[in-house]
Amino acid sequence: MRRSEKKRIAFFDFACCEGCQLAVLELEETLLDLLSHTDIAAWREVMTGDEPPYDVAFCEGSICTRADEERLLRVRRDAKILVALGTCAAIGCHNNLRNRIDTREALEKVYGKAARGMDVTEARPVSAVVDTDYRILGCPVSLPEFIAVFKAILTDQPYRLPNEPVCVECKLTDTLCVYEKGRVCLGPLTRCGCGAICTRFGDVCHGCRGLVDEANLAAMPRVFSREHLHAIMGAVASGQPLDEERIRQMIALYNNYPELKIEDRGDA
Ligand code: SF4
Ligand code: SF4
Ligand code: SF4
Repeated sequence: MRRSEKKRIAFFDFACCEGCQLAVLELEETLLDLLSHTDIAAWREVMTGDEPPYDVAFCEGSICTRADEERLLRVRRDAKILVALGTCAAIGCHNNLRNRIDTREALEKVYGKAARGMDVTEARPVSAVVDTDYRILGCPVSLPEFIAVFKAILTDQPYRLPNEPVCVECKLTDTLCVYEKGRVCLGPLTRCGCGAICTRFGDVCHGCRGLVDEANLAAMPRVFSREHLHAIMGAVASGQPLDEERIRQMIALYNNYPELKIEDRGDA
């Protein structure tokens, strides 16, 4: 690639833990290979300076203040391609849990009188404020997906998010289902693409990559409320209440914007 063809890329963080950018930095040599096809115009975690316009802006985090919103709109105006980097930016993540309580009340509890001057808005993912051209999911972001999106951008190709549940990746990796250990897993509702990294290492899927399209949320509580449960499901359900509200709370840890709609499509 000639120097003149290099894409000018930038990374921006909004309200978040910045763990997605750190995960990207952990790509080390692979990242250096990718970056050799680009010029960096802004990236606060690794350098000073900001030189718009950008060919590609990776935006991490949620939009929680009017200042965030103005900054994001400025980035959108200056970028040909905008990528929502990670679950905070793509679908809301933990930041958006605070929308469930009155913002002023929450601020005053945490900051006392200092809260009066704070210009805080509803917490929203980047994708709810501006148009995004690509989304990369995960908390932290899935690195294989980051690489795939980066390459798609370099070669002017689209990237289609996978739309199968994490269970598919468990089957492909011959992973024992955690339901057999009596634990509740959100993998059947969650978009794959992480390689089932949590379940492969013995944890449950907490749903950090968001829901698959057309996820049948109502099916899960209905399966657990059946009179004649399969022995495994019966053992899981005996240890904890698995009604609709409990399952909604579990899903809402990462999928909190917009409000979840639980519609029973009756095919469980
Ligand atoms: S998606 Fe997770 S890891 Fe990434 S910035 Fe948000 S909270 Fe941090
Ligand atoms: S461990 Fe979770 S994701 Fe894996 S097969 Fe079981 S329910 Fe599905
Ligand atoms: S298994 Fe679930 S919680 Fe873990 S990385 Fe994948 S989507 Fe996220």
